[in-house]
Amino acid sequence: MHIETLVTHAGREVEQGTGALTPSITLATTFERNAEGGYADGHSYSRMSNPNRAALESALAQLEGGAAALAFASGMAAITSLMMAFESGAHVILPDDLYTGTRRLVGEVLARWGLTVSFTDQTDPENVRTAITTQTRLVYLETPSNPRLMVSDIAALAAIAHEAGALCAVDNTWATPVLQHPLALGADVVIHATTKYIGGHSDVLGGALVLRDAPESPLAEKLRTVQGLGGAVPSPFDCWLLLRSLPTLPLRVRAQSASAALIADFLEAHPHVERVHYPGLASHAGHCIAARQMTGGFGGMLSFEVAGGVAQALAVANRVHLFTQATSLGGVESLIEHRASVEGAGTRAPENLLRLSVGLEHPDDLIADLAQALG
Ligand SMILES: *Cc1c(COP(=O)(O)O)cnc(C)c1O
Repeated sequence: MHIETLVTHAGREVEQGTGALTPSITLATTFERNAEGGYADGHSYSRMSNPNRAALESALAQLEGGAAALAFASGMAAITSLMMAFESGAHVILPDDLYTGTRRLVGEVLARWGLTVSFTDQTDPENVRTAITTQTRLVYLETPSNPRLMVSDIAALAAIAHEAGALCAVDNTWATPVLQHPLALGADVVIHATTKYIGGHSDVLGGALVLRDAPESPLAEKLRTVQGLGGAVPSPFDCWLLLRSLPTLPLRVRAQSASAALIADFLEAHPHVERVHYPGLASHAGHCIAARQMTGGFGGMLSFEVAGGVAQALAVANRVHLFTQATSLGGVESLIEHRASVEGAGTRAPENLLRLSVGLEHPDDLIADLAQALG
């Protein structure tokens, strides 16, 4: 089925007993055990599983073409849980342009538990091949990446990971299952900060892992143990909100992506813009790979470097009216941020870089706003 049909039906069924078309929010933390010691619907205690989470997990698995999915309280909880499935001393290869929370997590938290990491420029698969060691268990991708929208070749990197007996995971938060299907390209795990496009309204925090392997596979069982015992699980209401956001996901992402492409063209032609990072532009170094592995658009995120330096970049961010200066992304409202200030000490973001999350406003209004701010 097409994604429009999947998002409308996955994880939803008319409720037994009430006939309700919209699922109820099951707030119960505990469920009755029957005489044989089993549970009528398979739920015993809501940290381990509950009806709203099960519906969301089923829907996310279907959207990514996976066999199983696990929902978490945030994107970072999903990433932490993935790393905790490996043994102490495991080596993970990450991209050097990367969501700053992930970089800080592996360096400041997981290093103390024995995780070892290498950061490489993954736009060249040979760099990843060189970084492989006998302890490498995971090749971790983020494509397009934050904040420079670098593109890596999922199929090539998954093959390199598998040759080394390692897994390949892709943070698909920015592309969403509307535009990119990493599992179909050979990845083993897809990561989402459902906080972003999947939630889509800047009002719920969540994360997910989607697996190619069956729910009974060793990886799925390990991750379910980390999820249930680690306990970083989303509330039933969070799951309900995320499921409610799914039917509009393709419409939102396609509109945001189409507007981002127009804004990228406008910025690229603007004399006060030094450089635009958007994989839809023919001038982007990863354009050919992105065109091959993404379908229907290049996403609603872009960044650009303002001519003149940091003061000029901050001035532009302060002069726009429709874009709100705030972090995060994927909501209905457009956001702008000076990424180096948000990331703070140790940032690798160019100091004149502004990142845009394009919302659902009319693209002409957004372009007019950027034009007056750059002018
Ligand atoms: C926001 C984000 C995360 C972290 O998600 P949270 O829900 O904020 O914990 C991870 N990866 C990417 C690419 C993100 O944009």
